[in-house]
Amino acid sequence: RIVYLNGTFLPIEEARIPVMDRGFLFGDGIYEVTAVLDGRFADNEAHLRRLDRSLGEIGIPNPHTVAEWTAIQNELVARNNLTEGLIYIEVTRGVQERDFAYPANLAPTVVMFTQAKPVRANAGLAKGASVITVPDLRWARRDIKSVALLAQVLAKQAAVNAGANEAWMVQDGVVTEGASSTAFIVTEAGELITRPLSHAVLPGITRGAVLRLVAGNGLTFVERTFTVEEAKAAKEAFFTSASTIVMPVVSIDGTPIGDGRPGRLALQLRELYIEALTAR
Ligand code: PLP
Repeated sequence: RIVYLNGTFLPIEEARIPVMDRGFLFGDGIYEVTAVLDGRFADNEAHLRRLDRSLGEIGIPNPHTVAEWTAIQNELVARNNLTEGLIYIEVTRGVQERDFAYPANLAPTVVMFTQAKPVRANAGLAKGASVITVPDLRWARRDIKSVALLAQVLAKQAAVNAGANEAWMVQDGVVTEGASSTAFIVTEAGELITRPLSHAVLPGITRGAVLRLVAGNGLTFVERTFTVEEAKAAKEAFFTSASTIVMPVVSIDGTPIGDGRPGRLALQLRELYIEALTAR
């Protein structure tokens, strides 16, 4: 596998990050993940915009223009013959003798790699996903896509240990979002609900795309918080992310959602989004 590191394409075994990289020592960096379908990027402009915003929010200069990022991504996809999977970007503040504070002139570290994996044909789709709820242990700026992901690592592992597919993080009885996804429910009254954007959640690119599809197809949605109890009593639940697109949720903490099978709206939105992404 060929990866990109600071201007060079090289075999992954040969790529080296210095011990004093602030991404390694402090989790002082930003990342982005874009899906690749038919060799093409899914909503990449939005991902690169969010990358720029995240970097700006923590004062790391964006080392590349959109055109430069896209050119590197294209070359990496070509060198790895990637037709379907993910492309990962990480930018850390750079390398410096360990110290919490940082000088003004650090050169950011840029790492990019691809992961070949099925995105459209998800093995868990027929059955749907099971979700557990966990306390949201994260900091107060979850809108920044920081590589400091310890709370999400623990949440995901708790899900795996429980035989579940995703963890929904909860604060004061209210669902914030999935460990690596945006949470949605559909009430018995047919209302599609997801949490409004704020510092409490990552502004999901898939979330935005799905909400535009909902509006474009004459359906409605409501941006408001919802509780775990509401979610368990919902007609449907699902989550969205670049890697899972739209994934129906069939149980939360062991409570079946609706009839315990993947919901119709979730599957419809998944199809609509894939159609939009792969249309020629
Ligand atoms: N929320 C969190 C905490 C995430 O980590 C992710 C993706 O990794 C998402 C939401 C979904 O974002 P996107 O749709 O941009 O992949």
